[in-house]
This record gives sequence, structure tokens and C-alpha cells, in this order.
Amino acid sequence: MSRNKFVIAIDGPAGAGKSTIAVLVAKKLGFLYVDTGAMYRALTLKALRNKIPLDDRNLLIEMARKSKIDLVMDKKTYRVFLDNEDVSKEIRKEEVSKASHFIASVPEIREILWQIQRSYRNNHNIVMEGRDIGSIVFPDAQLKIYLDASVDERVTRRYNQLKQQGIECNTEQLKKEIILRDKRDKNRKIAPLVKCKDAVVIDSTSMTIKEEVDLIVQVYKKICSEPQ
Ligand code: C5P
Repeated sequence: MSRNKFVIAIDGPAGAGKSTIAVLVAKKLGFLYVDTGAMYRALTLKALRNKIPLDDRNLLIEMARKSKIDLVMDKKTYRVFLDNEDVSKEIRKEEVSKASHFIASVPEIREILWQIQRSYRNNHNIVMEGRDIGSIVFPDAQLKIYLDASVDERVTRRYNQLKQQGIECNTEQLKKEIILRDKRDKNRKIAPLVKCKDAVVIDSTSMTIKEEVDLIVQVYKKICSEPQ
């Protein structure tokens, strides 16, 4: 593992705007963007499609071991491939969001995904977003961000994001779902969502996207200008 490569770890609850911000920061700095949630979603989608009982850990682990997940970013798009099939749109469906906690709570599956996630640092400076990036995947990340926003703001953002992708949803339902996912992410035994002590906490409720991106880039530049 190359510790010379710079890692910006962005963690936070569902709908805090991590993807939007992480993509823009990555573009601005010329870093590779890695969405770890997409990996948990891809495996969840596969389990749903294959009708694997979501409480059968052994079958889920076997499925994960046989799966191939590729994240492909070009200048304009970010696509997620599961066993060579483009599933970028399908993994955003609500049924996948709702069921992803089953996959996320299996330690052996997390181990498989952690290995893939860590390998990105071998050759790239990265902006990686998720729930456990600063705490577990890269505890030595040079910059850790905890991105938060009020529940109502997060519901609005998620709604707009899904609408843009042509996915219909209901705000009340979305709010319940977000509160439940927060609870599950923060309380699970393995790799819960935590605010790392050394993270820069950003409450983005009343910030613009540009302000958030500029702030992160500014902190990054400050770190780079400090003597090692
Ligand atoms: O970020 P996103 O909502 O796409 O993540 C999908 C699911 O994957 C989340 O509900 C969360 O439980 C799980 N996840 C995780 N660890 C990560 C990223 C996502 O447990 N690093």
C-alpha cells in the first residue's frame, strides 16, 4: 500500500451530499473518486435478483466471493458494473437502499470490499466516500471529512437526486427510510458510522455546493503546504 498517495475520506449519513461533493472535489484535484456505497448496493442488488434470503449470511458471503464489482469513471460519467453489467441506475432504487443494511452488516463481506477499496490507493490519490472510510478503511487518511446535514435537508436532496435520475419517490417515505438508515448505520456492530476525532466536521445544511467544495479544497491545500 502506498502511503504517499493522498486520501480524502468523506463519511457521513445517507443523503448528506457526499457523492456530489466528493465527485467535484475529485475533479478539481484530479483525484480518483470512489463511491463505496455503490459496492454495497451492487451486492444487495445481486442478492435481490437471485432471491438469496437476506438473512442467510453464508449464502451472501459465497455470492460476494464470486462477484466482480468495477467502478468506472470517465470525464463525464461514473458507472458501476456488477459482473460486467452496467447496474448504475438499478442500484439507486429504493428497494436496494432498504435492503443494503443486510449486506453491510456481514463482516466477511465488508472484509472483501475493504480489500478492494484499499487497493485503489496503490496507484491513485483518491477521494473515497462512505460510512467507515476514515475509521476503518483508511484510518491514516491525510484528510478526513464528516459531512452532515439536517434530516429535512437530506430528504430534499435525496428526493431531487432520485427525481433527476428519473426515479419516482415519496418524501414522507424517504424521510422514514433515511431516519431508519441513520439508526442502522450508527448502531451496527461492525464498522458503524462514527465521527472520527481527527475529522473536519462540515454541517452543510445551509451551505452551497460550491462553498462545501471550496472549503474541502482549502483544507487540502493547507495540509499540503504544511511541513511533513
Ligand atoms: O452511501 P449509500 O447510501 O449509497 O450506501 C448504501 C448503503 O451501504 C448504506 O445504507 C450503508 O449502510 C452501506 N454502506 C456502508 N459502508 C460504506 C458505504 C455504504 O455500510 N462505506
